[in-house]
Amino acid sequence: MAEPGRIPVPLRLCRGCRRFVRIENEACDFCGADLAALEAAHAGDVAALHAAMDALRAAMAAHAAPLPEREGSGVGES
Ligand SMILES: [Zn+2]
Repeated sequence: MAEPGRIPVPLRLCRGCRRFVRIENEACDFCGADLAALEAAHAGDVAALHAAMDALRAAMAAHAAPLPEREGSGVGES
């Protein structure tokens, strides 16, 4: 039975151990990590991931386009 008026405790995801801790915590209860630092690092990872995705997309677009003839590919066409 759910109690009326019960407010769920806001939780914060620890990026270090992927467990939820109280939102007011500055350090993880489980692994002791600095939550703000991990979140900042995670944000940096996401930015790096986006950059990598952009590079991959550009590489795929370049691959999809007709390639210029490579010299010395050694395929032996005549
Ligand atoms: Zn943790």
